[in-house]
Amino acid sequence: MALLSTIDFPHKIVETEGFAHKRIDLHSHTNCSDGTLSPQTLIDRAVNFQLNVLAITDHDTVAGLDIAQKHIEEKNIPLKLISGIEISTAWQGFEIHIVGLNIDKNNSALTALIAQQQQAREDRARTMGEKLAKCGFPTIYEDAKEMAGEGSITRAHFAKVLHQQGHVSTMQQAFDKYIGKKGSKGQRAYVKPNWCSIEEAVDVIHQAGGSAVMAHPIRYDLSAKWLRRLIVDFKEANGDGLEVVLPQMNPEQRKKMLGYCNEYDLHASMGSDFHYPNRWSDLGRNLTMPVGATPVWAQWQ
Ligand code: AMP
Ligand code: MN
Ligand code: MN
Ligand code: MN
Repeated sequence: MALLSTIDFPHKIVETEGFAHKRIDLHSHTNCSDGTLSPQTLIDRAVNFQLNVLAITDHDTVAGLDIAQKHIEEKNIPLKLISGIEISTAWQGFEIHIVGLNIDKNNSALTALIAQQQQAREDRARTMGEKLAKCGFPTIYEDAKEMAGEGSITRAHFAKVLHQQGHVSTMQQAFDKYIGKKGSKGQRAYVKPNWCSIEEAVDVIHQAGGSAVMAHPIRYDLSAKWLRRLIVDFKEANGDGLEVVLPQMNPEQRKKMLGYCNEYDLHASMGSDFHYPNRWSDLGRNLTMPVGATPVWAQWQ
């Protein structure tokens, strides 16, 4: 990575020596995308769970970061906020999520990419609404839009509305029956999104001075052969790291992801991908950086 002056990139001043033995979570969502908590409530929850470092990584938006940072400063909260984003990309017909960490949230290339991604979200949401209307559910787009408010509109909003209106019995069923993609064409109301490429996402994250990490590699339903292909392409696109630790991952999976990191010289990241309080996972829970990994924050000194 190029040497960047800390005067031009003040966000890069991160005292990472203090990361040792700290409780760290580098993947979380607020209601600026499809999380349910406001940035302030998320920060309060992180402190209650005794986290020391938290990255907010909303889908294709950085809107929650200023709100969260202001709250931290006003209340003098002992938490280090890492500026992040989760960018949706298109790769070989799959939707791959790239997390940008320790970014300059005001970088102009990033701002432009966010605008492009927001347009793609809006276009997809409208078409999805039209398809759902044909399924007999006429106002879903408007309802999902209202739920998303000023934030990034996602399929999670559509799933929640379909569930609330009794058209499906769980949010998962909304994906399985209508808006998800299983097989080549997807379900009845699936709309192929117009996301940027992995290369573009990584390049823009780097222009914003950040680290590009592939989110939840285990969650793409890829065979071992295809997952390796994805990791090779990500590395060729100059990607920096993989999420090797998610709360739901078993030791075997963690070991496998760490193996990929070592094989392809990638850094390791970890995060809960917290969206809302639930029984199975929470902020910072069950996250430990494995021995032998080079953590992503080693890039931030
Ligand atoms: P989007 O980025 O608009 O495609 O919305 C995807 C979001 O929906 C993910 O980030 C998850 O939070 C949520 N989600 C929940 N269940 C599923 C599922 N089965 N497939 C894809 N996304 C899901
Ligand atoms: Mn989400
Ligand atoms: Mn994701
Ligand atoms: Mn996420």
